[in-house]
Amino acid sequence: MKITSVKTAATIGHGMHLWVKVTTDAGIVGIGECVHGGHQAIAIIRNLETKLIGRDPFAIDALIEELRREHVFDGGSAGALITALTGIEIALWDIKGKSLGVPVYELLGGKFRDRIWVYCDCQVDPGMDFDEIERVVHAVLAKGFTAIKIDLDIGAYSAGRISGNASAITDRCFEQTFVKDKFNYTAMQREHERMLQLVDMVTRAAGKDVAVAADLHTRLDVPSAIRLVRDLAPYHLLWLEEPLPPENIDALREVKSHSTVPICVGENLYLRFAFRELFEKRAADIVMPDLLKCGGLSDGRKIANLAELYYVPFAPHNVSSPIGTMATAHVCASIPNFLILEWHWNERPYWTTIIKQKQDIIKNGYIKLTDRPGIGVDLDEEVARQHQYPGTTWFD
Ligand code: MG
Repeated sequence: MKITSVKTAATIGHGMHLWVKVTTDAGIVGIGECVHGGHQAIAIIRNLETKLIGRDPFAIDALIEELRREHVFDGGSAGALITALTGIEIALWDIKGKSLGVPVYELLGGKFRDRIWVYCDCQVDPGMDFDEIERVVHAVLAKGFTAIKIDLDIGAYSAGRISGNASAITDRCFEQTFVKDKFNYTAMQREHERMLQLVDMVTRAAGKDVAVAADLHTRLDVPSAIRLVRDLAPYHLLWLEEPLPPENIDALREVKSHSTVPICVGENLYLRFAFRELFEKRAADIVMPDLLKCGGLSDGRKIANLAELYYVPFAPHNVSSPIGTMATAHVCASIPNFLILEWHWNERPYWTTIIKQKQDIIKNGYIKLTDRPGIGVDLDEEVARQHQYPGTTWFD
């Protein structure tokens, strides 16, 4: 079997969802997905197509590693090039599974479990009182989820995902020196107390049977993070995510040394290599690589295997469509140290409409693994194209 073409399309979802369609001379077509690569990843994939045509789609690891090494001076360690390769890699797994008539998890060594625990990203906004938070949390729990995540840092709200009212509250937080400005990462007393109060309200609204994680999106400095983790100790959080910028592993280890709340990082690290220092220095309690940008299913599984050596749970970041989510679920099934997988589409109703199966793959907070060959979920292009990303082409 030989690859005959590699084409992309993009839709609006959680940012840009980039689809990679790989066709073969056997008529088998694979679909891959990647996120956070943007228009750069589209251009990279277009340039890589000539190098992929005529190649064996079964030699997944060798092919991706060959392309990565060829481009080591062009970003072959992190960023859009790796994300572009990720989209191609996932499409190749889909081809291999379809060709052999087995689901991807069988190609990864078989499954440890039949269903994948999922948490729902829960969008509470700054300024909500307890009743409002309880309404938001209970609406998520009513869908059957038993784990949720909230955004804790004020910077997450200023990034523009929230309602007009909440946006005004965010502006007020900046004006009233909750934080000094958008670049300074020191949480002033009001901001520190706002974050604690939010955790207190959410955990009370959720109750003791629901796991609650909180995300800081890399937006604190060391002293602010240490003060926060100490004061969060009474709350039984599932984890505190990315308290610091991702570059300095020693600084993260310092924060972790003060924390009884598990520290979780990884969505801004690329490839297995970036996780080595994290594990060697015991700087994280839980890792959350994004398999739709960090290198793909092979690297995701390698990161999970490295984590296992240090008894560290694996809880992938995930903002992707049902296809990327199911692709990630195959890896989660194939490793012993899987904890939980993210789902970030609570407020976007068209999630299930862009797949041909037309059914929600998440039921009562779990994904039931599919036994269909390949990834096992097919893109409904007619519907997906209704959400086409402006300025992009559609598989041509
Ligand atoms: Mg995060």
